[in-house]
Amino acid sequence: MQPSNRSVDLVRDLYRQGTSYVFAKKPEAIAEEFGFTEVARLASNENPFGPSPQALQEAQKALVSMHRYPDTTHTALISALQEYHGDYSFVTGVGMDGVIETCIRVLINPGDQVTISTPTFSFYGLAATAQGGVNSNVLRNADFSIDIPSFISSARNAKISFLCTPNNPSGTVTPLSDIEEILQNIQGILFLDNAYVEFSSEDYRQLMNRYKNLIIGRTMSKVFGLAGCRVGYAFVPDWFKPMYEKAATPFTLNTISAAAAVGALQDHDYIEQTISYVKKWRDAFTHEKRKPVFTSGANFVMIDVAPLTGDQATDFFAQNGVLVRSCRSFPGLADHYIRVCVGEEWENIRFLEVFRKI
Ligand SMILES: *Cc1c(COP(=O)(O)O)cnc(C)c1O
Repeated sequence: MQPSNRSVDLVRDLYRQGTSYVFAKKPEAIAEEFGFTEVARLASNENPFGPSPQALQEAQKALVSMHRYPDTTHTALISALQEYHGDYSFVTGVGMDGVIETCIRVLINPGDQVTISTPTFSFYGLAATAQGGVNSNVLRNADFSIDIPSFISSARNAKISFLCTPNNPSGTVTPLSDIEEILQNIQGILFLDNAYVEFSSEDYRQLMNRYKNLIIGRTMSKVFGLAGCRVGYAFVPDWFKPMYEKAATPFTLNTISAAAAVGALQDHDYIEQTISYVKKWRDAFTHEKRKPVFTSGANFVMIDVAPLTGDQATDFFAQNGVLVRSCRSFPGLADHYIRVCVGEEWENIRFLEVFRKI
């Protein structure tokens, strides 16, 4: 390495110049700018009910042992997952983002191909690039369904391929039979991102028993209401688990978050209430005919706001006290969409009022 008189020159080009994850705008800033005491926060797909009381209770109990390192194997969490889902192999991570990052670390050498069904969640591509992977983005069809032959032909050359269902930001649910067709035709790993699957009527878990190249990523951030705790997990084939554990940072999760996750998994009432509430409001959003709203299997909907751009529509909502997500930053998506999630009653009502004025 050449000596340098600028410390920043030590940084990889990727992080000096490259793109990074785009976060939703800060509600506090919008409230201040436009004079609202409270802003409807519909940009980040969080659970509007607050944390489950059982999650809070477990987290509180865990506080007294925060001077100890966590249980390395997260036995209590793995048992809670097995109780909730059945006898599968699980790995954990700091959010599903952490799981995605570690899976890529297990598999990708510089120059290896990673296939991504786009437009979608941006973190797969960012994590792959960080590892030296080469992204192959396969565009979805005009209705955001998967172009199966194109996806398969790219995924055949990839060590790992990412497919999000229900898809962020379009909400599109990919039928189980399509997933199965892909799995039958590729050798590499298919990472199915199921961050929102609880809000849909599709259930892909049975595929774990039939395919040794499937990983299903899940998160505690959405229906389970623990976005701030950063807990993600995945169903993995048995052979993959020890490899993952070698590549992961030691301990993966902190004690408090892991305990909260156990409580959240056991609180079936909270989960069921969230799901039925979200579905009711998602229907209300979808029936609004002001602009085309896409059918969604998630806790959000994507709306075509043309002739406005995503940012113009987002600014209009912000001026009216509603925070929505502009989809401008989603690679492969034309710039005239926004994404809106179901929030508290008053937030949804305010959103619908503003939507009717757009
Ligand atoms: C929210 C989200 C995740 C993961 O979120 P974490 O908070 O990191 O668990 C993963 N994929 C998609 C598509 C998401 O929207």
